[in-house]
Amino acid sequence: SSWWAHVEPAQKDPILGVTEAYLADPTPHKVNVGVGAFRDDNGNPVVLQCVREAERRIVGKLNMEYLPMGGSHKMIDETLRLAYGENSEFIKDKRIAAIQALSGTGACRVFADFQKRFRPDSQIYIPVPTWANHHNIWRDAHVTQKTFHYYHPESRGLDFAAMIDDIKNAPNGSFFLLHACAHNPTGVDPTEEQWKEISNIFKVKGHFPFFDMAYQGFASGDPERDARAIRIFLEDGHAIGIAQSFAKNMGLYGQRVGCLSLVCEDEKRAVAVKSQLQQLARPMYSNPPVHGALLVSIILSDPHLKNLWLKEVKVMADRIIGMRTALRENLEKLGSSLSWEHITKQIGMFCYSGLTAEQVDRLTNEFHIYMTRNGRISMAGVTTKNVEYLANAIHEVTK
Ligand code: PLP
Repeated sequence: SSWWAHVEPAQKDPILGVTEAYLADPTPHKVNVGVGAFRDDNGNPVVLQCVREAERRIVGKLNMEYLPMGGSHKMIDETLRLAYGENSEFIKDKRIAAIQALSGTGACRVFADFQKRFRPDSQIYIPVPTWANHHNIWRDAHVTQKTFHYYHPESRGLDFAAMIDDIKNAPNGSFFLLHACAHNPTGVDPTEEQWKEISNIFKVKGHFPFFDMAYQGFASGDPERDARAIRIFLEDGHAIGIAQSFAKNMGLYGQRVGCLSLVCEDEKRAVAVKSQLQQLARPMYSNPPVHGALLVSIILSDPHLKNLWLKEVKVMADRIIGMRTALRENLEKLGSSLSWEHITKQIGMFCYSGLTAEQVDRLTNEFHIYMTRNGRISMAGVTTKNVEYLANAIHEVTK
C-alpha cells in the first residue's frame, strides 16, 4: 500500500503540452507558435546584450548571501520607477509597499494571498478570457473568482460595452484583475480613452484595480507608453496594485524576477503593508533569488545599460509587430476572403486568431503547426522563414 495511491495525474497544462507535442514531431518544417517566449528570426531564444554586460560585471564578484526578506531594495526602487514614473509622487512620498517577487506569477500569487488574508470575504473579477494561470493562482489562494466580459469574438476586439456593464454591476468595492498592456491571450487592449472611462467608473464604484503587467515595453516597444493605463489610474487617485515581471521585457524568464507593489494612503500604512507581504513570503519561499535582481538593478541604474535595454526591448517589439504585418499581408496575398485586420490591430506576444479548435487541429495534424486550441498564435514563433508557410496553412484550413 502506498501513501499516495489515491493521487491521479494532474491535468496537463494546455500551453506546456503544445511544446511537448512539438518536440516529439520529427518533421523538419514543423512550426511552434505555442510558446510564450521571445525568439529571434531564426527561432532561437535571445539573451539581451544589456543582460550579458550586467553579467560580465558581476561574474566572480557576487557573494551568495540571502537578500532581505522583501528582496533587493535597489531593484525594487528601479522597478517602481518604471511602472509609476520617474517622478512619481507616490514614490517620493513613500506610499508604495513593494516586495521583490518570483516574477509576475509570484507577484500575483502573493497578492492573492494578501487579499485573502486581509479582505477575506472579497472576490476577484477576472476578464474572459485571461491567462489560464490567473485562475489557478486565485483558486489556490482560496479567493472566489468572478468574471467580466472582455473579448468580443465577432469583432475580434474589445467588448467594451459589456465590460463596462459588468464593472458597473459588480458590488461596490470589488477587486478587478486588469492586464496593464498586451492582454494575454487576446492581444486586445482598451484605447487610452476607454481606459479613462474605465478608471472613472472604478472611481465611482470604489473598485480595486490590480494590474498584471507582464509585458511593459514588450507591447509597443516603449515602457512609458505601455504604462499608460497605470498612469491614468494613478492620475485619477486610485490606490492600485501592480504585478511586474522582467521575464519578457528583459528576457529573464528563468531568473524569476519581478515585483509586487501596492499604493497605500501614507508611508505608515505602506510600511505595515510591506511587513505583511514579507510575512506572507517568509513561510512560502523565505526570500527571493539574488542573481536576476542584481542584473535588473545594474541595468536600470546605469544610464548606458538602460539605454541599451530600451533599444533592445524595442527591437523585440518591432520584430513582433513586423511579423504581424507579414502574416496579414501573406494571408491577403493568398486571396483569403476573411478579414485579417485583427492580426495587426492586436498587440504584444499573441494574436488571438479566431481559428477554431478544429482548424487548429488541422494545422497541427496536416501542417505540423503547433499552437493552443483556443487559436492563440504566439507571434514570437513567427519568422521571415516560416511566415509564408504559416499563412498558407491558415488559408487552407479557413477556406
Ligand atoms: N501574467 C501574464 C498575463 C502572462 O502572460 C505571464 C506570462 O506568460 C505572466 C503573468 C507571468 O510570467 P512570469 O511569472 O514568468 O513573469
